[in-house]
Amino acid sequence: MAKLLFEIVTAERLVSSQEVDVVVAPGVEGELAVLPHHAPLLTSLKPGEVLVRNDGEETYIAVSGGFLEVMPDKVTILADAAERAEEIDEQRAEEALRRAQERLTSAPAAVDLERELASMRRSQARLSIARRRRRRGSS
Ligand code: ATP
Repeated sequence: MAKLLFEIVTAERLVSSQEVDVVVAPGVEGELAVLPHHAPLLTSLKPGEVLVRNDGEETYIAVSGGFLEVMPDKVTILADAAERAEEIDEQRAEEALRRAQERLTSAPAAVDLERELASMRRSQARLSIARRRRRRGSS
């Protein structure tokens, strides 16, 4: 069966590079599923979870927004920040989420709403991936 080469990179590092059957990413206009032979595409991502599936095995990667490019049989995500499940520090994500929630509730008029919501979405994606990994006992 045809495969896609999937790469996710940040300014600092290559986070993941693998052959996959499908990529599902949090596009700004909704979830975007990319299969082999998808039409070329360039779109923005919002903070969330990227799911890749290969031979029935699912892997999740947290992404803090960025861009997704589809080329023939290759999907590249250029992310602001991204972490594989095993790299996520769950406690750090819990604290970041709590800080963002506190800023929003203690002085809602003074905060940058978009920024705090983006911070919450990053933390929630990290937590969801880290907790799923813990439940499964693997990545
Ligand atoms: P914090 O307030 O805890 O720093 P943040 O959402 O502001 O969280 P980012 O600016 O998105 O952090 O990321 C900064 C760097 O730290 C990136 O390299 C990112 O991959 C890494 N990072 C952030 N949170 C975590 C986490 N919970 N586990 C592992 N790496 C993380």
